[in-house]
Amino acid sequence: MKEIVLAKYGEIILKGGNRPKFEKLLIDNIKNALKNVAKCRVTLTQATIYIDDFDDDKIDLIVDRLSKIFGIVSITRAAVCEKDMNSIKATAKEYLNEDLSAPATFKVEARRSDKTFPLNSVQLSIELGGYLDDCFENIKCDVHEPDITIMAEIREAGAYVYNNEKKIKGQGGMPIGSGSKAMLLLSGGIDSPVAGHMIAKRGVAIEAVNFFSFPYTSDRAKEKVIELARIISQYTSKIRLYIVPFTEIQLEIRDKCPEEHMTLIMRRFMMRISEKIARKAGAKALVTGESVGQVASQTLSALDVTNAVTDMPILQPLIGMDKIEVIRRAEEIGTYETSILPYEDCCTVFTPRHPTINPRRSTIERTESVLDIEALESSALEGIEVIDIYPEC
Ligand code: ATP
Ligand code: MG
Repeated sequence: MKEIVLAKYGEIILKGGNRPKFEKLLIDNIKNALKNVAKCRVTLTQATIYIDDFDDDKIDLIVDRLSKIFGIVSITRAAVCEKDMNSIKATAKEYLNEDLSAPATFKVEARRSDKTFPLNSVQLSIELGGYLDDCFENIKCDVHEPDITIMAEIREAGAYVYNNEKKIKGQGGMPIGSGSKAMLLLSGGIDSPVAGHMIAKRGVAIEAVNFFSFPYTSDRAKEKVIELARIISQYTSKIRLYIVPFTEIQLEIRDKCPEEHMTLIMRRFMMRISEKIARKAGAKALVTGESVGQVASQTLSALDVTNAVTDMPILQPLIGMDKIEVIRRAEEIGTYETSILPYEDCCTVFTPRHPTINPRRSTIERTESVLDIEALESSALEGIEVIDIYPEC
């Protein structure tokens, strides 16, 4: 039986006069995401996106891909049939056989945008509902609180039948590209991939920077960050990843600064260097994965000291979340299993035994002033490796 995929968008509906612009962006993002998945047609009618004209065996891949596109709130598979009552009945009976065989209450909801169809929506609902009631002995009609709502849509291009309960939840949010660009500080941990996903969900394109301490951190640690970026790219379509050599800076800090300030001074270097990369890339904000009080470097005073080195907005979407909530999100978006692989991160290699918990800006500024900050930053920026990462690579 021939199937199509229907997708509904969410927040775009609220966009008033700008709605066509956001719709076009979403359609372009969908076409781009499906380009390497299947040959297909993508069209939009009355706030529903129709994906058809693909090889039958590609439907699962298409649904999976759509389930990761920001802006879409739900995805449904539907059977396609001729626009006549006999064909609609026969198709519904066969297509919904499994769903309607177990005891349940149901109703049919019809929509008719093709006004040349001889029955109106109410007549169509009654006719198809009565027919299905006769065909399946375990089901009973209940128009108020049905277990199952069967949808029948009559559109210009054809008729579609589906079980509304089988809708798959989409990501929601806004289409990528509607909210300029931000630079994500991506470690190999659990938090930063989730932070990146949350900001991308608001329509913001993402590039990522990772600080890497060769040879203290291994190639496997680098592979892990690349894999995390690849998983995020399934939602954003592409991620440009900047890998910054960090060892020289860390060794200098270790040799010349008080051990208890080490993490904070390192974090300040990360912010300054990330801002430079961000400005060059046209990004308007930095994104990091802190939540208040999670570790010593995430107390409010520590965040004050870290964030003071840049006047670029710093987006910290996890700031009020518990670790448990972050882990749940990491599992949902598919980064958790990769994040917990036990490869060392550049910060864990150089962690002080007793980090300062209540640092002051002036103290840290003084202790880091022994370093040639500009020279160290320039040298790190010169050594950057840039990798473009795509969902399928
Ligand atoms: P994560 O789980 O994201 O690693 P964390 O709880 O380990 O976070 P920190 O180590 O304090 O927290 O780092 C805070 C934030 O700084 C991270 O969420 C990330 O945005 C950024 N960061 C930390 N280490 C790196 C790194 N090696 N490369 C890029 N960004 C980093
Ligand atoms: Mg970390």
